[in-house]
Amino acid sequence: MVWITGGKKDFLKKQAIKEPDNTHHRNLEIIYKLLRKRFGFLNWWPGDSDFEVLVGAILTQQTSWKNVEKAIANLKAADMLNISKISKCEIDYLQQLVHPAGFYRQKASRLKEICSLIIDRYGNLGNFLSLDADDLRQSLLSMKGIGRETADSIILYASGQPIFVIDAYTRRILGRVYGLEEDYKSMSYDELQRHIESKIKRDLELYQDFHAQIVQLGKDYCLNKPICKECPLNEICSYNMHSKQIDSSKQ
Ligand code: SF4
Repeated sequence: MVWITGGKKDFLKKQAIKEPDNTHHRNLEIIYKLLRKRFGFLNWWPGDSDFEVLVGAILTQQTSWKNVEKAIANLKAADMLNISKISKCEIDYLQQLVHPAGFYRQKASRLKEICSLIIDRYGNLGNFLSLDADDLRQSLLSMKGIGRETADSIILYASGQPIFVIDAYTRRILGRVYGLEEDYKSMSYDELQRHIESKIKRDLELYQDFHAQIVQLGKDYCLNKPICKECPLNEICSYNMHSKQIDSSKQ
């Protein structure tokens, strides 16, 4: 069981946090409903085509989406947002185009390499994205510069297959809501993903929008120093309840 780890001592420590017995009020579907009520349906992932989603997922590593948008706008303006064109593009030119996304040397060569690999191995992007999720994941992870989060974003948003993307916001928010921040931080990516997927029905639109909602909450409220007062999850969040208990015990 992943909820309580670290032996009896840790278990007792967690029990010492006085929580109301309302775990069923924190199930993932309820969390999603509360988020959706606040933010509405978020039309993610931004992109006019599957290829644009894939390019965005690669460029967004270690930078903000705003910078990715600039790089994608450059590619579009130069009529280069095309897998075959990028695979054949002069590297210096590609570096110039993706420059706003940062780490432009590394990102340009990875992008070019990935495009060439897809064409060599699968003929075109459609064939590649039609692989089933396990094969697609394996293939993506074998490509230099693609980690689990990027691979799963591509599977979820470009290939349209339900897989739960785990990112730092997921670990932080769900860890805080369940009062298990350390456990969520230390669990491996795949372990946490399996755990979450076992708790919520596998549905494409739900998984796509849930990830978007988590990112929105992480950016707006569940910051390093969280703004719990205004957060849509504050009524069910263990972290918030615990903080309130500490505050009232100080008074
Ligand atoms: S109530 Fe606070 S800690 Fe809990 S999810 Fe919201 S912002 Fe994060």
